[in-house]
Amino acid sequence: MRRSLIMGNWKLNGSLSMLAEFITSLSDQIDALKMCDIAIAPPAVYLHEAKKQLKNDRISLAAQNVDFNTGGAFTGELSPQMLKEVGAKYVIIGHSERRSYHQETNEGIAKKFALLKETGLIPVLCIGESETENAQGLTQTICAKQLDAILAKCGPDAFKNSVIAYEPIWAIGTGKAATASEAQKVHAFIRQHVSKGKDEIAKTVIIQYGGSVNASNADEFFAEKDIDGALVGGASLKVNDFLKIAQSA
Ligand code: PEP
Repeated sequence: MRRSLIMGNWKLNGSLSMLAEFITSLSDQIDALKMCDIAIAPPAVYLHEAKKQLKNDRISLAAQNVDFNTGGAFTGELSPQMLKEVGAKYVIIGHSERRSYHQETNEGIAKKFALLKETGLIPVLCIGESETENAQGLTQTICAKQLDAILAKCGPDAFKNSVIAYEPIWAIGTGKAATASEAQKVHAFIRQHVSKGKDEIAKTVIIQYGGSVNASNADEFFAEKDIDGALVGGASLKVNDFLKIAQSA
């Protein structure tokens, strides 16, 4: 049985005081949130401190990016091993903001995916189409291409113990979420595409929805059978909103 995963992506936001507030509030409420797994992805500089403050292993940490090199002359980069050492369990890769502002390619993202798995970290692979692609009916084609790059690099079992976040680019930070039934159709497609008939993968791969999820619309998404939680941006910056989303799961 899959458990929903609610993950807050803080992006380039946060501070030590915000971190302490989150850890206190989430820890106080975690016993009431039995139905889902919870993770926060603060900027990587805060992970070590977060790990020290966290007393409850039901709250996990995620990093927002990683390099595809393990070490060496790569100024400014962080390796999977470093992220693991400071407490990350998950690493978000392929976020559309990184694809567009940092020119990340499907091939580079596939290298990151492979390295994370080798290191024992769980990749949270973000995929999704632009508004134009959506209007042209290309949603499944684009998602398939993004997934195929991973399957080509890591083989048919790539998505065992992995997380995919379907994040239509037009819904990210716009307040214009996909409808739950639109998202469900894409999630069902993704599940079938990555499992290729293998029951074990179909039943275990976690497929989150991301894109303007908030405390008011979360329950509609979580009622759909192939939507296993959410990757939350803006609404993850206020602990009460984030908790309300988790309560809907
Ligand atoms: C995101 O950036 O992953 C995201 C889903 O953002 P928002 O919730 O703000 O749309």
